Amino acid sequence: MICRLCPRNCGAQRTETEGKGYCRMPSVPILARAALHHWEEPPISGSRGSGTVFFSGCSLGCVFCQNEKISHQNFGRAVTLDRLREICEELAAQGAHNLNFVNPTHYAHAVAALLEDWRPPIPVVFNTGGYDKTDTLRRLEGKVDIYLPDLKYLNGETARRYSAAPDYPEIAQEAIREMVRQTGPCQFDDNRLLIRGTIIRHLILPGQLNQAKAVMDWTAREFAPGTVLFSLMSQYTPWGNLSACPELDRRLRPGEMRSAREYMENLGLAGFTQERTSARQEYTPPFDLTGI
Ligand code: SF4
Repeated sequence: MICRLCPRNCGAQRTETEGKGYCRMPSVPILARAALHHWEEPPISGSRGSGTVFFSGCSLGCVFCQNEKISHQNFGRAVTLDRLREICEELAAQGAHNLNFVNPTHYAHAVAALLEDWRPPIPVVFNTGGYDKTDTLRRLEGKVDIYLPDLKYLNGETARRYSAAPDYPEIAQEAIREMVRQTGPCQFDDNRLLIRGTIIRHLILPGQLNQAKAVMDWTAREFAPGTVLFSLMSQYTPWGNLSACPELDRRLRPGEMRSAREYMENLGLAGFTQERTSARQEYTPPFDLTGI
């Protein structure tokens, strides 16, 4: 395939065995893990866990990436669409509350093809960094029930410096508007599990409290109360080589998290916060081909 799936618009040839675009991934899905995961937001994880399917590769270039082994080192195993469907059925049989495709942007074509003539028995979650093209998202309309996008930055210079994507703010805002258009307001089942809707996530970065506030302001301005949920994440942990961005080489200060949480409360944004003390390992599972 000649690929223009994501905002990088590489126009690169992706064959079944090789990728030459920014994401470097072949057209066939490469997976690193498929297992129940208990550390998503409560209406996603529920009591039994979310059926996460981790795709390898990434179309963003975040210097602080916590999933470096799969996003930048491309660890994983190639699977056919038939095997991908079996994996999803196995997760449903294990009791997963939903199928949670993690970092699927550069495999949106495979997700769309999988769901073209198969309707899973549980909701489908598209869990993304927010750097998604609206044209590509439209191919998922009616197939995805829940969107779980990041909104990492509203400042282009910061997006360039930390994720090599200066156009991230405009792209992500448009993408999230499209996601919310598709899902409509959040809907829950009798057990308060999310069955349809959009949760916007923001990971607070060291020294970036104003960025977090801008993201919350935008969310409150853009969507009527009760339309989306907001997840304020504070588990940032320095990771990898941060010599080019030494200001990121520390954990959050208690005051940063407290200020961000108070700001969210004062805005009346409905959603979730995480404790600063939460261990990173809880959120980053081992990438060891489990379930593949
Ligand atoms: S999905 Fe990969 S190859 Fe396709 S446009 Fe994006 S970065 Fe380029």
